[in-house]
Amino acid sequence: MYNINGLNEECGVFGIINNKNALRIAYYGLHSLQHRGQEAAGITFKNGEYFETIKGRGLVADVLTDEVISCYSTRTAIGHVRYATAGGLGSANVQPFSFKFYDENLALAHNGHIGNAKDIKKELEEHGGVFSSTSDSELLIHLLRHEKGDFKTRLINSLNKLDGSFAYVLMHDDEMYGIRDKNGIRPLSIAKLDDYSYVLSSETCAYSVIGAKFVRDVLPGEVVKIKEGKIESYFYNDNCSQNLCLMEYVYFSRPDSTIDNINVHFARKLCGKLLARQKPVEADIVIGVPDSSISAAIGYAEESGIPYEIGLIKNKYVGRTFIQPTPELREKGVRMKLSANEAIVKDKRIIMIDDSIVRGTTSKRIVQLLKEAGAKEVHVRIASPAIKYPCYYGVDISTYDELISSQLNVDELCKFIKADSLSFLELDSLKKALNNVKYNDKNEHENRYCSACFNGDYVTKLYDALEVLNMNKQEL
Ligand code: 5GP
Ligand code: SF4
Ligand code: MG
Repeated sequence: MYNINGLNEECGVFGIINNKNALRIAYYGLHSLQHRGQEAAGITFKNGEYFETIKGRGLVADVLTDEVISCYSTRTAIGHVRYATAGGLGSANVQPFSFKFYDENLALAHNGHIGNAKDIKKELEEHGGVFSSTSDSELLIHLLRHEKGDFKTRLINSLNKLDGSFAYVLMHDDEMYGIRDKNGIRPLSIAKLDDYSYVLSSETCAYSVIGAKFVRDVLPGEVVKIKEGKIESYFYNDNCSQNLCLMEYVYFSRPDSTIDNINVHFARKLCGKLLARQKPVEADIVIGVPDSSISAAIGYAEESGIPYEIGLIKNKYVGRTFIQPTPELREKGVRMKLSANEAIVKDKRIIMIDDSIVRGTTSKRIVQLLKEAGAKEVHVRIASPAIKYPCYYGVDISTYDELISSQLNVDELCKFIKADSLSFLELDSLKKALNNVKYNDKNEHENRYCSACFNGDYVTKLYDALEVLNMNKQEL
């Protein structure tokens, strides 16, 4: 089957301006965004008149050591943590990207994916553009250099050429910018630190770590400019709407983050409660797959009245299962990572909650673990709808053949993972419930979220990805 690996990445961005501890704060901020990407990290900061960049493969603490950070003193820094599929992990693609021109300095960190990158690159190359990476993230800088006029005009015109998902943190000489795409697919927010420093971050969990106070989310299509302790804001497009990635609530974000006014733990608990109402089953205990399913499992237990137990223990010192590149290694990773708590699960009828099924590896392995530990029945309840379509907005859900729910129906999948029963959360009710929390109304605003990987309803044009998508559909 045709693969489109290398397109997808899930990342975190961070920025701090006007603080004497900018480098250390960027380090702590990025460290708290580490769950969004563990394969590479980097920072760009002002060093005298110019921008300096330290970046490389590995975790934040590996790349940004105390020795390196202590060498510099700066008041402004942006940073990035990166997750990338195998095809896209050349070190040239590690962010931030920084450029020095005769008349300005520019640097950026990007979370998302630009759908029309190929077309834009082609056009720019025809006009003499030279790219230093294969990533779509540096495109904005090239576009900015091609536009004429003041910086604001150049930025607005450039952003309007990009179609896809983006949360950018950008440094332009003495200014820092936070920019969110007009569909608001990827999260970004602003916080204040002390009297004059502002912080930008993909997730609000970074703020408590550094003692910053959340100000607000950057809005879809909004450009927030921060300079000399002041914020200026404008929109690059008149046609903006909210389509936050539903998977941010389901899996990606940390439970202590709040995105677009909804706390992630709260959203997950709500998913668990809805699931208990929609897909009840008789059982003795409810367990969650640590860590990302604990909130949903608590919600399921609370709603059903069935006790919540710690039936699975995670070894915290093994990296996320997804990092392992081959299926074989992935399976080993799961085995190293999780153990059943035999004293709790033996002879029990168990409801096992997981946040999502992608390839089905995790669920299959855990059902086996629980049965080996003596569980009488294992009923798997997934606190999100079935993932059937690839994501083109910056997330590692890349091909149909990797998505087990696009190959098997629920009954077949239940047999594949060898569970006693299997159910998923219903998409419409999930959207309605989240809207109800946020907008306090049950019936309107049903399209406030991107849910393309669940229902194929893509928020933007797909460009060359559409061809691959259709080809894959025919093959199925
Ligand atoms: P599977 O084993 O079915 O391929 O993956 C699903 C499991 O992996 C879930 O337990 C989920 O918590 C975890 N997971 C790790 N990385 C990702 C990711 O990028 N997306 C999703 N949806 N789940 C992931
Ligand atoms: Fe998020 Fe899925 Fe939309 Fe991708 S397709 S942005 S993972 S909801
Ligand atoms: Mg999990």
